[in-house]
Amino acid sequence: MRARALHDILRQLDNAAVAAGRPAPRLLAVSKTQDATAVAELAAAGQRAFGENYVQEAAGKRTALTGLDLEWHLIGHLQSNKAKEAAELFDWVHTLDRAKLVAALARHRRDDQAPLNVLVQVNIDDEASKHGCQPHEVIALAKTIAVEPRLRLRGLMVIPTPYPEPEQRRDAFRRTRALFDALRTDHPQLDTLSMGMSDDYAIAIAEGATMVRIGTALFGARKRRESGMGNGEP
Ligand SMILES: *Cc1c(COP(=O)(O)O)cnc(C)c1O
Repeated sequence: MRARALHDILRQLDNAAVAAGRPAPRLLAVSKTQDATAVAELAAAGQRAFGENYVQEAAGKRTALTGLDLEWHLIGHLQSNKAKEAAELFDWVHTLDRAKLVAALARHRRDDQAPLNVLVQVNIDDEASKHGCQPHEVIALAKTIAVEPRLRLRGLMVIPTPYPEPEQRRDAFRRTRALFDALRTDHPQLDTLSMGMSDDYAIAIAEGATMVRIGTALFGARKRRESGMGNGEP
């Protein structure tokens, strides 16, 4: 049944990409609040990349699923006091939004691990209460990441204001894509634009997403903490 849901989503991502004349994005399966069994079922169906919002919750699943060749992505807000644990646990961090965190993750990524893949989270709609750096801070933050050998800058991540109509988020996706393109003049190796969730991935793909983060459309409704973005603040 989960294999079926996975194949449905992959087909829909393909369709959206074809309709937009764009390459199909990578699927990040957002497994927050789902148990390790659900992750294992998707993994058996071929899914490799999983997104989690909380360090502790991800640590538990990673331990439970030792032996599976999975890729773990942190997509929730990261507090500095959790940087060490996050640097050792995850393969990707999507929510790097301040210089202090760059230094902490770089310091704690162990030498026997591959460099940590990171995305700069942008507060594209300039909401006072939200995480992410301001658009004008992206270039400077990218520079501080690029000189860290233990970090590998891959691109940008965005969570637009959740306006009721997904179509209202298109402009935020478009502005993030423009920022991504601008950043690539200095960092041509960047390959990842993480944007789009269950209800707006088609629009995000049309605007240039290379990775979409899908939870409910894949797993069904979440079991707890289902409100909001689950962005570290339930
Ligand atoms: C929960 C979450 C998602 C997935 O949201 P769905 O609407 O369930 O697809 C994507 N990105 C972030 C940052 C999230 O917190």
